Amino acid sequence: MSKEIYLDGNATTCVLPAAIDAAVQAMRDCFGNPSSTHATGLQAKAMMDSVRQRAKRLLGVGNGRIMFNSGATEGIQTAVLSALCALRERRERGEAIGSLLVYGATEHKAVPEALAHWNRLLGLGLELKKLPVDADGRHDLAALRALAPQAAFVCTMAANNETGVVSDLVGIGATLVGSKALWMVDCVQGLGKLPLDLGNTRIDYAPFSGHKLYAPKGIGMLYVREGAPYTALVMGGGQEAGLRSGTENMAGIAALGAVLAALEEGGTFRSPTELYGFREKLATSLRAAFPGIVFNAPFDKALPTTLNFSVPGLSSKELLDVFDAANVRVSAGSACSAAKAAPSYVLDAMGLPAWRSSSAVRMSFGPLAGEEIIDEACTRIERCGQALRNAGLMDTPVSGTVVPEGLLQLSLAGNHTWLLLDAPSRQCIVIDHQAELGERIDSLLHSHGYKVSARLSTRDGGAETDSFVFGAHTVRRAALDSSHTGYLLCSGDKVDYAFTGLAALSGLAGKLPADALVCAGREEVNACCTSLRAEAQGSMAGADLNLDSIALARLLEAHPQAVLVDVRETYEQAACIPGGRAAESVPLSRLAAFVPGWLDAVDQPPLVFFCRSGNRSAKAAQCLRRLGYRNAYSLGGGIALASPALALAA
Ligand code: PLP
Repeated sequence: MSKEIYLDGNATTCVLPAAIDAAVQAMRDCFGNPSSTHATGLQAKAMMDSVRQRAKRLLGVGNGRIMFNSGATEGIQTAVLSALCALRERRERGEAIGSLLVYGATEHKAVPEALAHWNRLLGLGLELKKLPVDADGRHDLAALRALAPQAAFVCTMAANNETGVVSDLVGIGATLVGSKALWMVDCVQGLGKLPLDLGNTRIDYAPFSGHKLYAPKGIGMLYVREGAPYTALVMGGGQEAGLRSGTENMAGIAALGAVLAALEEGGTFRSPTELYGFREKLATSLRAAFPGIVFNAPFDKALPTTLNFSVPGLSSKELLDVFDAANVRVSAGSACSAAKAAPSYVLDAMGLPAWRSSSAVRMSFGPLAGEEIIDEACTRIERCGQALRNAGLMDTPVSGTVVPEGLLQLSLAGNHTWLLLDAPSRQCIVIDHQAELGERIDSLLHSHGYKVSARLSTRDGGAETDSFVFGAHTVRRAALDSSHTGYLLCSGDKVDYAFTGLAALSGLAGKLPADALVCAGREEVNACCTSLRAEAQGSMAGADLNLDSIALARLLEAHPQAVLVDVRETYEQAACIPGGRAAESVPLSRLAAFVPGWLDAVDQPPLVFFCRSGNRSAKAAQCLRRLGYRNAYSLGGGIALASPALALAA
């Protein structure tokens, strides 16, 4: 396996070795309860106090307070609860508090969710108001100026987690001069990356999270300005001077302390100049790999450690898949599901076109990144670009790669389009074309020199003739029911494949040969291909369909002739660093083309399908099982969970 390159630092980071050592030491040697008055407790308390002092120095909190908690989501709740309780009291005293809870349109979801939750629970009835951002992702100060007189509480962030855009906190502070509003700044993405001098600002609350900067998950801090109202979220034994009850997470505090020490003492983390250099290298490789790439945040207004980009014609899922295959971990800029990527609310708020917002990818690293890793990342990025270009996904002429031929399935949002490709004549038939796939199909065909000879629709019976010759096959039209036309791909009199669109399979008995492979038009009808005989017999999935790595090792030992089948797409396979156990390559989009060969084999060996996460391989194995191939399996959890000992190509 090639070494993983982790470029998702804004989601979380690994733990600094010194932080691991500090946590272990806190658990092994300094395990006392800091509330105990004996020596063991006092030692623990001394450690905790020294971490707190360090945090206070680093963040310049002046007379403000720093309390330890579980992370930023808790810090945000505490700040919101504190502000809203104070507002309620002020209002009960007859003071004018304003009517708005203002929050930046690009805030982490924890902020508006917490505001809505506590506003409802406390019965405040204040109005949540989104503060717009400009095209660069920065808060619109003119809008804030207009809202300020009615603002009761303002929530902004130091730097954005999706784009890295750094807020103009000085400008926001200046805009709020004269306003009585309380102010929270979510500093999660700013720690260690931005100079913070909290005591010299009018910021009332600032939550931090350890795991975004090389401390473990489950430890965080909240800054509270001297004199800012405070209401405890957790009551009990009065720990943290009564601000947050519950015995402290001492291992977490010790680990956070080691990170803060590294920040304060220097020598561990890269300088801003080095980080800018790393971003330049990554951006140069990205531009070379993906011509047409657009960066979604201006570099001069963003942290150097975050690159958010979109590539015309490529979805974030495709980019994530290819990067993951190359063992480069990045994340989608938007919440993407298997079916369709949801647009990013952050990029939407910046007014970016929908395609950029729904296909964005975020690449982020931390200040611990090393030159060698960045250089290796650049090599892999260029490899990924090459893999996608060779697969015909970027509308550039390709050479030296295998020309796709036969049957190809393209799916979008659960709808299937089928392409029949005749390589000798470079002719293609498109069945049930989807407009959203238009560019993808054009680029695929164009790259490999194919021309569309017919577009057929199972919905309107688009073919003019009842049958026509296509390469070595004949395509025949078949009436399926009142609203669906089928197309049959035949070798002589034998129907090899039947394309049936949305027609219910249960109604097709007698209209198609029982063993013809049926390729439906929608996921719910069938994910890959099936036959009427298979449908009549019912499922053969069985509980043993998914193998874990132990079961796989056993199966391979008992059946050395077993075949591993990689169902990832060709560009993912090409992005893999060569090595690992030999596997047959059958992308899921090509599965239907391979099914007859497997079904006709005399000695059906075990077939173990695998992919990145186990979803596509499960579809492949289910398809084969349903069609009567008993020995079909899926590697559950995918390559991600397979034991490295199996050394699958990754
Ligand atoms: N705020 C920002 C800007 C974040 O990026 C995150 C984490 O993704 C959070 C808040 C929540 O932090 P935690 O995971 O510590 O609860």
